[in-house]
Amino acid sequence: MPDDAPSLPDFTRWPSFPFEGDLRVKPLKEPVAVEPARSGEDAADCVACSTPDDAYIWVSERWRVRGMDRPTGLPAVLILECRSHLDLGDLPNLLAAELGVMTVRLERAIRSLDGVARVHVNRWGDGSAHLHMWFLARPHGMLQLRGTFLALWDDILPVIPEHQWRENLALVAAWLAEFGGQAIAEPAHIQWESPATFTDQPPWATAETNKSPDDTVAPVTYGSAIDNLAETSPEPPVTIPQQPEARSREPGQTPAT
Ligand SMILES: [Zn+2]
Repeated sequence: MPDDAPSLPDFTRWPSFPFEGDLRVKPLKEPVAVEPARSGEDAADCVACSTPDDAYIWVSERWRVRGMDRPTGLPAVLILECRSHLDLGDLPNLLAAELGVMTVRLERAIRSLDGVARVHVNRWGDGSAHLHMWFLARPHGMLQLRGTFLALWDDILPVIPEHQWRENLALVAAWLAEFGGQAIAEPAHIQWESPATFTDQPPWATAETNKSPDDTVAPVTYGSAIDNLAETSPEPPVTIPQQPEARSREPGQTPAT
């Protein structure tokens, strides 16, 4: 390593730092004179403004909450947006006050999920102009995920099972709807199955055929650890609309935008 290379900061030795091995600090680029425009600086080009309500998990008169378009490593990663094309510092007092209420409400809703110990709340705003607050659920007991690097761990951890992801979205939406607005992600529907289904087959066949697709493919991974944390709670299948219009992070892009 050259003598003028910056020494590694202390956080590379924190237990929560996701990487190990030989590291070096990138050379720092010169500051630009004019910053590039963010996505959707103009309301006419804003993805948030043009996305319909059915791409969200919950909506109200002035606020909307959406998830990613597919499961990720954490139990829940949600984004709170105001309907108005405004950034954080532009909010009038009414929306500023409601942002506080909505932040607390959504934090409680996510923390109510089985296996969630903490909810990290972030606003970066470097990628898109329309205000969007990130809410990341930190799994219970996974102390290595505490703190700054949770957003990175979300891309590193094995993806959680889709049925669990959908159930979590529906539960958060239902919690929010208790206080107003409309849940778009539907609550769980129990799919009843006739007992005859089980008695017509020998026990060995029953054991096999009763196994759900998730049982057969679930890896012994992080997702299974969360399943174990939640094993005392029933997990009925849920049905929520697909979210074809939901925006997701670009590949390789962390939430820090
Ligand atoms: Zn907008």
